[in-house]
Amino acid sequence: MGSTAPTKAELNGSNFKITRTTSPRKVPEPGSAEELSHSHCTDHMVTVRWTAAQGWETPEVKPYENLSIPPTASCLHYATECFEGMKVYRGYDGKLRLFRPDCNGERLNTSAQRSSLPGFKFEELKKLVAKLLQIDGPRWLPKSRPGSFLYIRPTIIGSGPHLGVQIPKEALLFIIAVPWPDFTKLKQDQNDDSSAPAPKGLKLFASTPDAIRAWPGGFGWAKLGANYGPSLQAHGKAQAMGFDQILWLFGEDRQVTEAGASNFFVVWRNAQSNQLELVTAPLESQLILPGVTRRSVLELVRERFSTEKQQAEGSSLAPLQVVERPLTIHEIETASREERLVEAFVSGTAYFITPVAMIRNNDLDISTLGQGGKPAGYAAQIKSWLEAIMYGKEEHDWSYVIEEEK
Ligand SMILES: *Cc1c(COP(=O)(O)O)cnc(C)c1O
Repeated sequence: MGSTAPTKAELNGSNFKITRTTSPRKVPEPGSAEELSHSHCTDHMVTVRWTAAQGWETPEVKPYENLSIPPTASCLHYATECFEGMKVYRGYDGKLRLFRPDCNGERLNTSAQRSSLPGFKFEELKKLVAKLLQIDGPRWLPKSRPGSFLYIRPTIIGSGPHLGVQIPKEALLFIIAVPWPDFTKLKQDQNDDSSAPAPKGLKLFASTPDAIRAWPGGFGWAKLGANYGPSLQAHGKAQAMGFDQILWLFGEDRQVTEAGASNFFVVWRNAQSNQLELVTAPLESQLILPGVTRRSVLELVRERFSTEKQQAEGSSLAPLQVVERPLTIHEIETASREERLVEAFVSGTAYFITPVAMIRNNDLDISTLGQGGKPAGYAAQIKSWLEAIMYGKEEHDWSYVIEEEK
């Protein structure tokens, strides 16, 4: 008789054990101290346990609570942790939407495998997220507040008790949702109160050779907590000097990779061809995180800023060619000096599309605002295209609508 290995259960986002809260939490007002704390989560959370012997257990939706893990847990010692950052949007048509959630599902699965954690079928992640928002959406993102969002953090940790160095035999996937300030709106309000000029964009501090975020063969392309801990000190120092983010450089030639938790783009006029280009670091070298927003920016620009399209619509913005290639800080400095630099911006879920005003590299300040000291408007146009999709002003197959409980 041949022995049959027990089949391990797959992650299944269609079947839940649900326990509802009996003491609903206070929903913070937009711009309140609770919201600014980034720590006041919604009423419920999703948890799914995994064991090497049985696979994934039945997902649970339960009241938000502290986790309980042994002090010997793998994640606390060996950084067996990966995560995603997503948002759920309350549309102007009253519907609740996720933006390209399968992209996050795929990335969480690859991040899990890079950190020795269990994988899953990527389509299941959006079902788990949708279940949480079916329950918490109506109260935490009320229909009376169209144009608002919650930040969602799916996470997987190695949770087993084995202190010996080994592949985790137990893991926990959890999903929490947290009200998150809308920085674009906050800045505006603050400026209304003061006479300060409107902020023109981020100030970036270029990293020095003693701090490298990612390297070939490393894990900068995966969304792991291990990418962040070792980079926070440089970030903190830059903030103390009045900068917003670190611009991470790599290699002898000081290649520009990405900025903080965002991908980085420049729009410039090519010195040889005079062609307007949107340039960003490539994925192949595995030095940058493959952002869902980055991918969406490139796809929209390829589709909507093409020559024919621009001519047909009589847009005031000239056509733009997408170029994914390594670019150096020296090239940006030269373009700025030769007045070929048109605009620079960063993209990511948490801080969305934000213009960059300047970069400090060693002792040199490089203006990235382009002619006349203001951005040309490409980032603003891309941002409004994305917002239209996220908030349901435009029907698009990147949207995933969540059916809510009444
Ligand atoms: C999450 C993240 C991004 C942005 O990715 P999005 O999918 O667009 O949110 C960029 N860089 C790093 C290092 C990140 O962790």
